[in-house]
Amino acid sequence: MDTAGGHTARPPSRRAGTAGSRRRSHLDWGTVTATSDAPDASAAEPRDAREAPEPRAPRLPIRPELAHEEPYGAPQLDVPVLLNVNENPYPPSEAVVASIAAAVARAAHGLNRYPDREFRALRTALAAYLERESGVTGLDADHLWAANGSNEVMLHLLQAFGGPGRTALSFAPTYSMYPEYARDTHTAWVAGRREDDFTLDPDVAIALIREVRPAVVLLPSPNNPTGTALPLPVVERILDVARTSGPDGAATVVVLDEAYAEFRRAGVPSALSILADHPHLAVTRTMSKAFGMAGARVGYLAAAPALVDALRIVRLPYHLSAVTQAVALAALGHTDELMAQVASLRQERDALAVWLQERGLDAVASDANFILFGRFSDRHAVWRRLLDAGILVREVGPDGWLRVTVGTPEETAAFRAALTQAIEQESVEGRA
Ligand SMILES: *Cc1c(COP(=O)(O)O)cnc(C)c1O
Repeated sequence: MDTAGGHTARPPSRRAGTAGSRRRSHLDWGTVTATSDAPDASAAEPRDAREAPEPRAPRLPIRPELAHEEPYGAPQLDVPVLLNVNENPYPPSEAVVASIAAAVARAAHGLNRYPDREFRALRTALAAYLERESGVTGLDADHLWAANGSNEVMLHLLQAFGGPGRTALSFAPTYSMYPEYARDTHTAWVAGRREDDFTLDPDVAIALIREVRPAVVLLPSPNNPTGTALPLPVVERILDVARTSGPDGAATVVVLDEAYAEFRRAGVPSALSILADHPHLAVTRTMSKAFGMAGARVGYLAAAPALVDALRIVRLPYHLSAVTQAVALAALGHTDELMAQVASLRQERDALAVWLQERGLDAVASDANFILFGRFSDRHAVWRRLLDAGILVREVGPDGWLRVTVGTPEETAAFRAALTQAIEQESVEGRA
C-alpha cells in the first residue's frame, strides 16, 4: 500500500505488458448493476434435455458502487531493483532480526490468550520514540494509537469521524488510498488542488474547507507523490478554521499524514510540535518507511486523548496481534541503528535530486525518501525502458512525472545508468 506509500497509486496503465502480472480477482460480478435484476445469459436452458440443468450460482449482493472496482495494488513485480513503493531498501540487521525473533518466541508462549487490546506497552514505546525523534515533550500512551499500518489508522479515523452524509477532503496530487478509505466508510470524497509547484495555498484550502465543511481533512506532509512538506503556518491557519468547519459546526479533524516525516530536511518541523494546542489534530506516522518495517504492518498516530478514545470505539477487538506488538516493540529497541540509516538515505536523496537537475530534468524538492521527476512527453515509455533495465519506479502523479524511491547507493547507481539511457532514447523520440 504507498503502496499506497508506495502504495500510492493505482496500477500503471494496462499498456504495461509485465504489469499485467497483477492477479485478477476470482470474482466476476458479471452484469451486476445498481438497477438490473435481469438474469444473465448463463441461465439459458441446456440444449440437450438429457444434460442435467446446472443450478445457477446465486448472485452475490456486492454493494453496487464496488461491483466494478479492482482491488488496490501497486504492481508487485519480480525485478532486481525495486524503487516503486518507498520502502527502506535495507533489510533489518542481524541484531534487529535476533531481537525480533526472541520477542516473537516469548509472545508465542502466550498465544492461547488474546493480546492486550489496548497495547499499552507499545503505545508507551511509540510515545517515547516520537518525543525523541521530534523533540516534543508531554506525549504518553493516552496520546498514541496504532493499527495494522497507518492505512488502518486512517480507516479508523474515517470510521469514527466520516460516514454517510459526511465528507473527507484532500488536495491533489495526494495519496491515492484516501478515496478508497472514504468509499469503504460511505464518506463523500472531495479533492481540491495544490498549486502548480505542489504547494498548498492556504487561502484556497480554507475557502474549500468553508464550502465543503468536511468532517476530515487529509494532508500528507511530506506529500506523496510529490515529497512536499507543509509549512507549519499553513497548517495552523487550516487548524484555526477547522475548529468549527465540520458537520453542524463541530470541528473538522485535520489529519497530518507524516508517513515520511523522518526523512524531512533539517529545519522542517513536524506537526507534533503543535499537537498540544489542537484537540482536532491527528499526526499519523508509520513503521513502514523510515523504520524499515513495511512487512510488519504497524502504523500509528498521536492526538489528544479524546480523539484517540473515539478510535478505540471503532477498532476491531484485539486488532493488533500479540506477534505484531512484539515485533514493533523489539524493532523500537533499535531506534539508533535505524535513525543512522535514515540519515544516509537523506543524503542519497539530496545527491539524487542534484543529479536529476544536472541532467536537465525537473526534480521536485523532497522531504521524503522519494523524488518526483520529469517531465516526459511519454512517461510510460520511460517507465517501460527502466523496467526493461531491471528497475521498477512508479508511474504516478500528474502526467509527465515519475516517482523514484531512494535505494541503496548501488540501486541508485543502477537507476542513474538506466535513466541516462532511457533519456537518450526519449530525446531521439521527442522529449517534452
Ligand atoms: C506509505 C504511506 C503510508 C503508510 O502506509 P502503511 O499502511 O503504514 O504501510 C501512509 N501514508 C502515505 C502518504 C504513504 O505514502
